[in-house]
Amino acid sequence: MPFNLDHLKSHHSELLDLLTETLPDMLWVKDLNGNYLYANQAICNELLMAKDTQEPIGKNDIYFAHRERLKHKENPKWHTFGELCFDSDKTVIENNKAMKFEEYGNVKGEMLYLEVYKAPFYDKSGKIIGTVGAGRDITQLKNIQLDLSKTLQELQAQRETLEHQANYDYLTQLPNRTQFMNRLSQVITKNLHNGTNSALLFIDLDHFKEINDSLGHYIGDRLLIEFAKRIHPVITKENLLARLGGDEFCLILSNIDDLKEIDSAIMRLMELIDEPFDIEGHWLYIGISVGVAMSPSDGSDPDELLKNADAAMYSAKNNGRNRYSFYNPNMTLQSKQRIGLESALRKALHQEEFEPYFQPQIDATTGEIIGMEVLMRWINENSVIAPDRFLQLAEDTGMIVAIDRLIMQKALKLYLKWQENGLYSGTVSFNLSSRQIEDNSFLEFVRKNINPVLEHYPNSIELEVTETQIMLNQNRSIKVLEALKSFGVTISIDDFGTGYSSLAYLKKLPISKLKIDRSFVEDLPHDVDDAVIATTIISLAKNLKLKVIAEGVETKAQVDFLVEHGCSTIQGHYFSKALNYQDMQNYLTLLPSKGLNL
Ligand code: C2E
Ligand code: CA
Ligand code: CA
Repeated sequence: MPFNLDHLKSHHSELLDLLTETLPDMLWVKDLNGNYLYANQAICNELLMAKDTQEPIGKNDIYFAHRERLKHKENPKWHTFGELCFDSDKTVIENNKAMKFEEYGNVKGEMLYLEVYKAPFYDKSGKIIGTVGAGRDITQLKNIQLDLSKTLQELQAQRETLEHQANYDYLTQLPNRTQFMNRLSQVITKNLHNGTNSALLFIDLDHFKEINDSLGHYIGDRLLIEFAKRIHPVITKENLLARLGGDEFCLILSNIDDLKEIDSAIMRLMELIDEPFDIEGHWLYIGISVGVAMSPSDGSDPDELLKNADAAMYSAKNNGRNRYSFYNPNMTLQSKQRIGLESALRKALHQEEFEPYFQPQIDATTGEIIGMEVLMRWINENSVIAPDRFLQLAEDTGMIVAIDRLIMQKALKLYLKWQENGLYSGTVSFNLSSRQIEDNSFLEFVRKNINPVLEHYPNSIELEVTETQIMLNQNRSIKVLEALKSFGVTISIDDFGTGYSSLAYLKKLPISKLKIDRSFVEDLPHDVDDAVIATTIISLAKNLKLKVIAEGVETKAQVDFLVEHGCSTIQGHYFSKALNYQDMQNYLTLLPSKGLNL
């Protein structure tokens, strides 16, 4: 007979058997105590480990779970299903309705997830007499779900990291430029809306580039981290501190009612960095230059406000660093001029428009010229530009290294001519940027360009460095100065008295001369303080067996005072200002007959 639906319908139990034994789902019937009345092949095989479908009858899940555990004592987690199934049976009976469960536990030592439907069943009188159930293995699905949620979690974590990276500075962990600009934009909007004021402080570390260049990026980075930590206390709920990049930090002070609040915030900043930073054994003093722009009056969008705070900062730097300036509209003009000046300077360097000028150094007791200082000038379309107009920018951009070398080469050529013609046999001294001292190729430059001159004319070349330059990077400076000394170059300390070298330190330096700064000469002889300082420097030089020279000497009274107190080498307008090549040549030619005003 063909096996068809009609046939099956007439053989009800065959149909049931076919269904229960062919489907992979677990099917069962239990009494009210959880004892099996029926269990299909699937549940016997996969959950109960029963030898056939008869074995479970009259027994419950706990029995089988226990039996499995006994068989595998070495692994107490071998089978953990029984109790759970038992509990959900009870729940169904108590609730007296069909329910869905997700059950899981170890079967044969491995995690099994089941989706289970359980329902009560009733006798003819409607009394609940047991439960029926169907369970389906959803382990694979579950594992995929678990994997997926793990992946999602990982993705979320990655997203958070990326978000952090996009908004925070990796070095200091402060908000970065992106976050800062967003916040600044919100602050400005709020200020415009509420009629309140905020201040944007643009903070730049003084001389950071020199530190970074000379001590290396590692030390530079450590310094930035420590700096950020030091100034951290200025952060409040209202303020935002961010690092924009390099050594540029910005602080937003919200809701400023009184400009005094800004003053005191800046004073606080300066106090916080007052003590030196100990970075891996280097004691570094850090100054900051701060530019302040007000929102909304100095800019109604973040870019403009930031640009103006930057211009104010630059003006603070130009006024001598370690100070602050409020923005004023002239600064925009200045900063435009600065950009213009920078490209003009590059062009000038390319066309070698920098020329050495020479200022005589006179022995006031004999009237003889014994030295000359080379002072550079920028000759731009017949106008003669003094270094104060462009030196800072040349330093900031690093162009100073090339400019200084150009000046040295040009001046040495002229100096050699005078020597060869018998016009002059004294020394020639050059000013050095600290950039030069730190430049790795400087000693090589000296070897090539200065050593040959020294071979012919020993002790003829002097380099002037300031205390501040040396203090910036003591270890390296001392090494370079010692190397220079070993070549036969004489070192003199320029602007002496304005820096902060100690006596003990001075003794360690390979120097031969102190140059009394112009500021102490200016008010001689009547200013008592200056008189004391000048005479102290002179006797200090004597005691340390160093030569001494006074610069910026303009009057006969100053010459007399200095000579009387033991400083007879004099440089200044009293004798001559800095002269170009031709004028210096005339000066040298006429000198013997000129008869100096002694
Ligand atoms: P400095 O080394 O202290 O040079 C002395 C400055 O005082 C020079 O200004 C000089 O012209 C000026 N001066 C000399 N005698 C008198 C005087 O009696 N009265 C007055 N009021 N001033 C006098 P200058 O030439 O404008 O140079 C300014 C600074 O620029 C120099 O200060 C030096 O630090 C720097 N500089 C000059 N030439 C060079 C150079 O070739 N390379 C580098 N790196 N710096 C240079
Ligand atoms: Ca000098
Ligand atoms: Ca000087």
